[in-house]
Amino acid sequence: MLQISNLSKTYPNGVQALKDVTLDISNGMFGLLGPNGAGKSSLMRTIATLQDADSGSIVFDGIDVLTNKQELRKTLGYLPQEFGVYPKVSAEEMLHYIARLKGVNNDKERNELVKALLEQVNLYNHRSKFLAGYSGGMKQRFGIAQALIGNPRLIIVDEPTAGLDPAERLRFNNLLSEIGENIVVILSTHIVDDVSELCNDMAIIAGGRVVKRGNPEGLLNEYQGKIWSKRVAKDEVAHYQQNYQLVLSKLSGGKMVVHIYSEVDPGNGFERERATLEDIYFANIS
Ligand code: ADP
Repeated sequence: MLQISNLSKTYPNGVQALKDVTLDISNGMFGLLGPNGAGKSSLMRTIATLQDADSGSIVFDGIDVLTNKQELRKTLGYLPQEFGVYPKVSAEEMLHYIARLKGVNNDKERNELVKALLEQVNLYNHRSKFLAGYSGGMKQRFGIAQALIGNPRLIIVDEPTAGLDPAERLRFNNLLSEIGENIVVILSTHIVDDVSELCNDMAIIAGGRVVKRGNPEGLLNEYQGKIWSKRVAKDEVAHYQQNYQLVLSKLSGGKMVVHIYSEVDPGNGFERERATLEDIYFANIS
């Protein structure tokens, strides 16, 4: 169980990235969904002990994360948004190196571990290739392999599918879904489909605040029957924005479609729409 309580953070430039964030997260795949600049990475880096908060607390399985960083790191697997450098070192060598850092000193044990990880993330056939030459999807799969070293009980994955093509994204999400359900996995993303495909629990964060919290099924039930859609001309969108609680406007087959939130039938040619996580996301971030 991960308990984040009243966490706030203001950067030296005055940007308040986290505002009184409170979240209790249990075992399973948790989706932290929010637009760019919402504060997701700030929260992920704070949980991963890479930066401090101004106030609040984080406790994971009895470990006070903000004061006992070393203890948390022993049980943490972290896939950052950007690795930064991909050295001219093979995936296999790099995994050996990281495994040694994490204390897997026995050669036989380490060899078996590295081989199993390379197979698990489907990189065994590319094990001798330099990381620098890996594709985006391969880099992310390598990222998961290194995060899994040391049997972590908490895994943080920060915007893993941004920049992956659809096939790479599918492969990566399938891999994520295989990670055990008996540990806490936090997936931070701005991609609604990642959360609807993978997560059994979620929060939406915007402007540094948690604006919605629940499981996808419960949230969908909450919005069912309250989302209405209509095809409109492109230049009419502003009118609907002013006169209705506009959730989103999007192109569909070259035509503009608006979705609005209304607890009663708004009439005026609107049709009831099956609520999706995308509706819930846009209804809460604007
Ligand atoms: P997200 O991961 O959701 O895109 P971030 O946590 O990266 O959001 O950023 C939240 C806000 O904090 C943004 O306005 C961003 O510009 C700002 N920010 C992030 N990191 C820093 C930093 N090191 N110094 C100053 N501002 C930062």
